[in-house]
Amino acid sequence: MFKKLFHNPIECKSKHYVEGKIHPEIRVGVCRISLTNGEQIDLYDTTGLYGDANHTIDIERGLPPARSRWQEGEFRTQLSLARRGVITPEMEYAAIREGVEAEFVRAKIAKGEAILPCNRNHPEAEPMVIGRDFLVKINSNIGNSALGSSIEEEVEKALWSIKWGADTVMDLSTGANIHQTREAILRNTPVPIGTVPLYQALEKVDGVVENLSWEVYRETLIEQCRQGVDYFTIHAGLLREFVPMALKRVTGIVSRGGSIMAKWMEHHAAQNFLYTNFNEICEICADYDVALSLGDGLRPGSIADANDQAQYGELKILGELTLKAWEYDVQVIIEGPGHVPMHLIEDNMVKQREWCHGAPFYTLGPLVSDIGAGYDHITSAIGGAMIGWMGTAMLCYVTTKEHLALPNKDDVREGVVTFKLAAHAADIAKGNRSALARDLAMSRARYDFRWADQFNLSLDPERARRMHYEMVGNSDADYCGMCGPHFCAMRITKSIK
Ligand code: SF4
Repeated sequence: MFKKLFHNPIECKSKHYVEGKIHPEIRVGVCRISLTNGEQIDLYDTTGLYGDANHTIDIERGLPPARSRWQEGEFRTQLSLARRGVITPEMEYAAIREGVEAEFVRAKIAKGEAILPCNRNHPEAEPMVIGRDFLVKINSNIGNSALGSSIEEEVEKALWSIKWGADTVMDLSTGANIHQTREAILRNTPVPIGTVPLYQALEKVDGVVENLSWEVYRETLIEQCRQGVDYFTIHAGLLREFVPMALKRVTGIVSRGGSIMAKWMEHHAAQNFLYTNFNEICEICADYDVALSLGDGLRPGSIADANDQAQYGELKILGELTLKAWEYDVQVIIEGPGHVPMHLIEDNMVKQREWCHGAPFYTLGPLVSDIGAGYDHITSAIGGAMIGWMGTAMLCYVTTKEHLALPNKDDVREGVVTFKLAAHAADIAKGNRSALARDLAMSRARYDFRWADQFNLSLDPERARRMHYEMVGNSDADYCGMCGPHFCAMRITKSIK
């Protein structure tokens, strides 16, 4: 059993629960911060119902299901129900988290402008919504080739990411025990879980790309649907005709899934089997309400390759596939960027909106320069903040170790917090009320030298607290260690008043 792995970092928080009005059976966990001036502020809490300081995780038992008995009668996807005008408990749950009306969430899902990933077989996941009109979300990647190989370590990484604010987690495991690892992650996490089914399909043919087939892939897809995966990255838009374009690039194909499919197509002299079997993929996903994250196998791996013919050719196909998936009532997000310099970012967002019919955009970074080795959480957060402001709905985090090595726990924490900052900066620029309220509360706490409030309102209270006490060692100080007591500008300003 893990102890104290899964707790919220906010020191003086008390977990608070908000009940549904349309669906009184639902209960939403928020983080209520009681400030020392008597005010309260509720924060969106990715740890959901279970992230209180005393909660312990028992991997064998898993989390209690948050939404096992919500849907009765004939099963339908959230998109299907939204189109019929039904506000589901999941929609109200997500609306409470966002601080918006449930009808607003329903309408956005019905139009395809937002998704609510919630496989019917992952009842532990608490509903959340991804779309340009909601808080910008972040995803963290884990996988047993990344930080360690034991199942416990993978669950720990997932929970660690969620503790620091990851809204979804992608399990990119590629090694042994892939099924069991995913099972433990699904049963112990309160957020939607995504995968790239191609990785497991490749394991099933012993890593020999040429031996991949639609049959093996289909079997893998069904296996993962049954297990409870909430969204799949599917590289169905990488057509055979785009491969020669990508091979002329400075950095070729940098997506694992993209390179696998390109190799398969060249070997078999055949079209991408994910594209030719896309209708059946949609049928399978509709049975479980698995959302499709249409993968960007041709995302640029260097700024020299940004916005090229290969990348945009694939993006146009993703737009076509979006319409196809919607025919099956399957929810869709579109994957994008990679390495894109700042002046070319906007064009990505404009074209994605135009070609993909308003489906939410989900981008890796983008990294705005290629020379940030060791600091690529920053090069990517710069681009992430920009593209989030422009309308991207979810950002995939990047760690300091990008391009270099496997991230450890500290790297995961720094990557998640850095991307929460990028997402929050975008939320502020978009005028999100809850984001603005948190900043204003922080500014006031800063001017009043309310240190405990400053720590609790920050994204990483532990680090902020440590840095303050290392230098000042006093929670009543009306200055900080940066300028010191005699040169503290805010203190001097107050004395003028
Ligand atoms: S000492 Fe300087 S940095 Fe610190 S609170 Fe005062 S003005 Fe701000």
